Amino acid sequence: MPKPILLSVDDDSDVLRAIERDLRSQYGAEYRVIGSDSPEGALDLLKQLKVRNDSVALLLADQRMPRMDGVEFLQQAMEIFPAAKRALLTAYADTNAAISAINHASINHFFLKPWDPPTEHLYPQLDDLLDDWQASFRPTFQGIRLLGTRWSPRSYELRDFLARNHVPYQWIDVEASANDPETKRLMDALGPEAANLPVVLFPDGTKLLEGIPADVAQKVGLRTRAQTSFYDLAIVGGGPAGLAAAVYGASEGLHTVMIEREAPGGQAGMSSRIENYLGFPTGLSGADLARRAVVQAQRFGVEILSQEAVAARAEGPYRIIKLADGNEISCHVLMIATGVQWRRLAAPGIDRLQGAGIYYGGGATEALSCKGEIVYVVGGANSAGQAAMNFARYAERVIILVRGESLSSTMSQYLIDQIKEMPNIQLWTHAAVAEAHGETHLEEISVLCTDTNKIERVPGSAMFIFIGALPRTDWLAGLVERDERGFLLTGPDLIRDGQRPKGWALDRDPFLLETNVPGIFAVGDVRHGSIKRVASGVGEGSVAVQFIHQYLSKV
Ligand SMILES: Cc1cc2nc3c(=O)[nH]c(=O)nc-3n(C[C@H](O)[C@H](O)[C@H](O)COP(=O)(O)OP(=O)(O)OC[C@H]3O[C@@H](n4cnc5c(N)ncnc54)[C@H](O)[C@@H]3O)c2cc1C
Repeated sequence: MPKPILLSVDDDSDVLRAIERDLRSQYGAEYRVIGSDSPEGALDLLKQLKVRNDSVALLLADQRMPRMDGVEFLQQAMEIFPAAKRALLTAYADTNAAISAINHASINHFFLKPWDPPTEHLYPQLDDLLDDWQASFRPTFQGIRLLGTRWSPRSYELRDFLARNHVPYQWIDVEASANDPETKRLMDALGPEAANLPVVLFPDGTKLLEGIPADVAQKVGLRTRAQTSFYDLAIVGGGPAGLAAAVYGASEGLHTVMIEREAPGGQAGMSSRIENYLGFPTGLSGADLARRAVVQAQRFGVEILSQEAVAARAEGPYRIIKLADGNEISCHVLMIATGVQWRRLAAPGIDRLQGAGIYYGGGATEALSCKGEIVYVVGGANSAGQAAMNFARYAERVIILVRGESLSSTMSQYLIDQIKEMPNIQLWTHAAVAEAHGETHLEEISVLCTDTNKIERVPGSAMFIFIGALPRTDWLAGLVERDERGFLLTGPDLIRDGQRPKGWALDRDPFLLETNVPGIFAVGDVRHGSIKRVASGVGEGSVAVQFIHQYLSKV
């Protein structure tokens, strides 16, 4: 934790140096001593310290300064750091002014110049003031602070990004806490910059205005540039399948890079509780699984890049990936583990209010904000059931909207049983979202009751959509064979009428998890015919490494 600050202000540089020296020699071990030779400069500095979330324990100002006297400075400084102790340095002739300041301007103490010896005329009084300050001092949060508004999609994107990458941060909703004096002080200290929300404040005092995940990734030390330009194995996608391939590949000596555009963990990282993964009888959260896997991968030397792959090509024995920032990475083997993304719900108002009350997927970041509210979960699969269970811990009521007449054909029985036990989860069958309403955020939802063909309009400020998922593999079009829905074909699926895929020049069939391009593999949910489960993704990711060794032995 950075040391709290003792700030002295005096336009006379000799006096300033003397007071700084005496403060430093007595308090330097516990406090940071800063001096300023102008009250205006000191006020600017205090605003910067407020933005950095520093603590100021003492403000010590000379009374006689041009343009702004000590009392006026201390009064203005008090609006920025109200808990700091305030003291005046005065000449004998100003004693009356100092006494009246104590009475009228909430000054805690005044010191007469000169204060020699400080052991008698300075330290005992300051000790008292600082003891008093310490008694009510609460250390400030020292990590990243994110200022934004709950209904802003850009704020949501950043919160989700930080949470899923396990970066600790403090969220300050500037609308919800508009009446909080400390938020007000921080916004005042930011001045006009406070209009550029979301604002990300870093502990080193730097800030990002209208921040985006890629910039934050760089600032928080997530690697966005590859260390080298060539790897044995490059994996695109850091879900369970990609992470497993990374761990097995690197542990077996392959120089491995894993490229992930959002956060390692993939869909599994959004799961509030995975109950069917072998070895975890009481279940584990997707975030926990992802965190453990990332540590394991890093231990084996996997390089994890926070980047998006936007194109790929094959040049002789090399596979080349183009990244969103324009850089390229070459490798012997390219593994596609990009999973699937949520299918969009097509109804008026949905796209406009996405991120402002309407979310695709788990929205772990949002669960807490839904405290005491009514939450709608759209979809009847396991992912929707898990999310409903998670939200039910915070929300007043969770309403699951499903088109069918029950959950039995789409959800696992253990989840159906858990949902039945939760008194604040309600199932609304034969229900389809017809429209979302609201100006700046979701306020109401029109639901088509398919059994009666009537539309009901209900109030709601949070809706989470889980209506199935599709792969986004356009960036591989023309290179890798895909089925009509975009899933990648591998192994036996590529053999038609006993014929190997077009352009295949090797004297062997494609390996089980290999695509129509030798050396490009596909694993996990993105693969045609895959079982959409964590365990199967992990299985495929690890099995594929065996085929990679075979491939590499002949390159
Ligand atoms: C809410 C929820 C709960 C679930 N619960 C369970 C459960 O309890 N048990 C179970 O077995 N399964 C569960 N599943 C399913 C399981 O999570 C998936 O089957 C599994 O995550 C698939 O793993 P994957 O690695 O193939 O793909 P994903 O997990 O989808 O990961 C793919 C990754 O690739 C990244 N990516 C995509 N394109 C690019 C690109 N161009 N460049 C860089 N990166 C890219 C994505 O950001 C993503 O992180 C759940 C799924 C969800 C959504």
